[in-house]
Amino acid sequence: MENMTPTSNLLSSLFFFTLIPLFSRNSIADYTLKQGQSINDTQSIVSAAEIFELGFFSQPQATNLKYLAIWYKGVTPKTVVWVANRDTPVLSSSATLNFKRDGNLVLMNQTGAAFWSSNSTKSIQNPIAQLLDTGNLVLRDSKSEDYVWQSFDYPTDTLLPGMKIGWDSKTGLNRKLTSWTSSIDVSSGEFSFSLNTNGLPQFFVHKGNKTMFRGWPWFDHDFGQSYGNGFNYDLVFDASTEISFSYNDSAHSRTRIVMDSSGSILRHEWNDVGEKWRKAYSFDGAGCNDYDLCGNFGLCNPAVTTSCGCLYGFEQISTKNLSNGCVRRDPKICEAGDGFMKISKVKWPDSTGDSVNMKLGVKDCEAECLKDCGCLAYGTVQIPKIGLACVNWFHKLVDIRYVPDVGSGDDIYVRVAASELEAADEKRSVAVVVAVPIVSVMVFLGLIGGWIFIRRRARGNHEVLIVPPIQEHELEIPIGVLEAATENFSVFNKIGEGGFGSVYKGKLPNGQEIAVKKLAETSGQGLQEFKNEVLFISQLQHRNLVKLLGFCIHNEQILLIYEYLPNKSLDCFIFDDQRRSSLTWPRRIDIIIGIARGLLYLHRDSRLRIIHRDLKAANILLDNEMKPKISDFGMARMFREDQTETKTRRVVGTYGYMSPEYVIDGYFSVKSDVFSFGVMVLEIVNGKKNKGFFHPEHQLNLLGHAWNLWKEGRSLELIDVILEDQFDEHEALRCINIGLLCVQRRPEDRPIMSAVVSMLENENMRLMVPERPGFYEERFIETGIDSSLNDQLSSSSNNVTVTLLDGR
Ligand code: ATP
Repeated sequence: MENMTPTSNLLSSLFFFTLIPLFSRNSIADYTLKQGQSINDTQSIVSAAEIFELGFFSQPQATNLKYLAIWYKGVTPKTVVWVANRDTPVLSSSATLNFKRDGNLVLMNQTGAAFWSSNSTKSIQNPIAQLLDTGNLVLRDSKSEDYVWQSFDYPTDTLLPGMKIGWDSKTGLNRKLTSWTSSIDVSSGEFSFSLNTNGLPQFFVHKGNKTMFRGWPWFDHDFGQSYGNGFNYDLVFDASTEISFSYNDSAHSRTRIVMDSSGSILRHEWNDVGEKWRKAYSFDGAGCNDYDLCGNFGLCNPAVTTSCGCLYGFEQISTKNLSNGCVRRDPKICEAGDGFMKISKVKWPDSTGDSVNMKLGVKDCEAECLKDCGCLAYGTVQIPKIGLACVNWFHKLVDIRYVPDVGSGDDIYVRVAASELEAADEKRSVAVVVAVPIVSVMVFLGLIGGWIFIRRRARGNHEVLIVPPIQEHELEIPIGVLEAATENFSVFNKIGEGGFGSVYKGKLPNGQEIAVKKLAETSGQGLQEFKNEVLFISQLQHRNLVKLLGFCIHNEQILLIYEYLPNKSLDCFIFDDQRRSSLTWPRRIDIIIGIARGLLYLHRDSRLRIIHRDLKAANILLDNEMKPKISDFGMARMFREDQTETKTRRVVGTYGYMSPEYVIDGYFSVKSDVFSFGVMVLEIVNGKKNKGFFHPEHQLNLLGHAWNLWKEGRSLELIDVILEDQFDEHEALRCINIGLLCVQRRPEDRPIMSAVVSMLENENMRLMVPERPGFYEERFIETGIDSSLNDQLSSSSNNVTVTLLDGR
């Protein structure tokens, strides 16, 4: 939107071309507006086939406020489908639409103050604006067919055929509908209808920040069942460029989907005979359609009055408040014999933030879920032209609904304890514990409706466009692309420097932000071997791992390209007096659990276990929701260090995080990572670094301090003072206990990561009592290490070359 200060408006107006109002008061049959032309508030532009009209309108209660809008030509009452300046009406006796010097459209009042602009960043030599018969107002250069701006990219409350909702990397837009404030107030209202692409794509209706309704997951056979003949929809699903939904309706000349101001989604068709709009579908949410009505692990049954029950193996937390959700009857998950219970005929739970893997078949999907204790359930869905996609749920299982309709609903496999599987043996075919009275299909249809359209048995034609997964050669990114992305590795783009080299922020042409790590020279390593490793590492996908996107080899220098994480590393928060306060206790717990899950994935990867070997707060990056992602894993593999449990002659690690056996003897194993994890847990809990920890009463490091407090039964004193009493004591004590178990001196006394995850997630699981930690006295003598981040210190111990990175 234009800056609307009076001075700047006046100034900017001086730069506009002289306006030549070419048109009379009537509608203009020519659908084109060229440079030097304009329309005022008594004029309009009509599309070629006279379907849509662009002009100015005012609302009856405020005739002095003028809006630039598109409506159906000749339809009464006036049906507005798009508004340019819905939140910035022109309060003036006159308004004009014309071109700015850079070719953008601009809406001004009579003093030249701008109230709206197309604001395209591309400048246009010979601009031309056209209102198409689709209702799309487009702006392009007269010598080109490409649009530099189009109103379809900025929907208001209406989705027209051919218009897309969802994400597009080219524009960086995630297009959604936003309701009017009321039926007579066009300004942005509280309801929105959007496509969430984080997980399996799903539609959501929000009221402000509150989720009101979630649609059927994409590719589910219940998604968007067709309405009427000739209606069809397109789903585009290419995670790197576009995820969108659009529809066409050849059977009806005029059709529109509206997010209305009362929170309903309506589908209207124009009835030529009666000359009025017919409501083809209306959805306003109620009962089981209310988002998360039955809480975590709950199951909503639309056919009974008390609609909330629980998934098999779970019981209600409160019989008074059913929306509190359910808990496991037997919490023994991740122990021998646990497995999956098939729950049939349900609408899948919300998968926001959960993992979707396009490459896994049913068996692998189950195996993937089974090997991570945090995985609550899995399911597979057939994706046209691609095959099966596997969904693993980790966060919670909410908003699940039973679907009694014949042929509808899906199967989901929910993780339950061994005892539940045994108990269910005799009645395995009974998929849900909620009784399901027989209801007629008609009653059911009336109750649940679907998400947008009336559900029908017959399917409509639909096309799904999917781009295949990344190929090996696509990982190699040309140096020119990286130079352009990082502005020639300019100092302004430099975001950090670690032991391996400098890190730069960049932006690819498709808008994706990246972090480029410039590493040391290749040192004669076999090129193919290195590429194989990069390919291997790039295929490790877990939401708690930083994704490796590609690599580049240029003049014997290696560059690795990672996804960019905006919140930098955990050490920037946890050891910073200001920023630490934003790490509330629940956030710290989430971070600890996230790191544990990521590490478990590395340790138990099916093909080859990855030992990180340099786990530390600086190697935990935080995404925009402060979710942790482990970075720098696989470095040892890429640079030809053995990855089995072994003895190495070259130790790479960071002061304060390395286990005794690793520093002293060069032995590394998953247990040396567990030690580093334990150090991090105590650091996150306490807010101080292990290395260089200072306490006036003793000479111990943070591990020693934690151990002393533990012995004296004063462990809660370890909790970061900044939290005051804003933490859960029981959780805090468990965390410290687990942290101490992880830093035990002998590797065999430390738990493996699967046990750590179980301990963190099951508050009733009994914990071992820790012994004295390893390395609890050392303060890691400050040897005058150059604090420049690139510096490495080499020393010798028992014929082992120790390469220590200065931990920050
Ligand atoms: P070392 O190399 O000694 O392990 P380090 O982990 O801090 O230290 P790098 O991994 O090279 O070194 O990263 C240096 C800094 O660059 C990080 O602390 C972080 O602030 C930033 N950084 C690294 N990777 C990313 C990324 N993917 N997104 C955003 N910032 C990043």
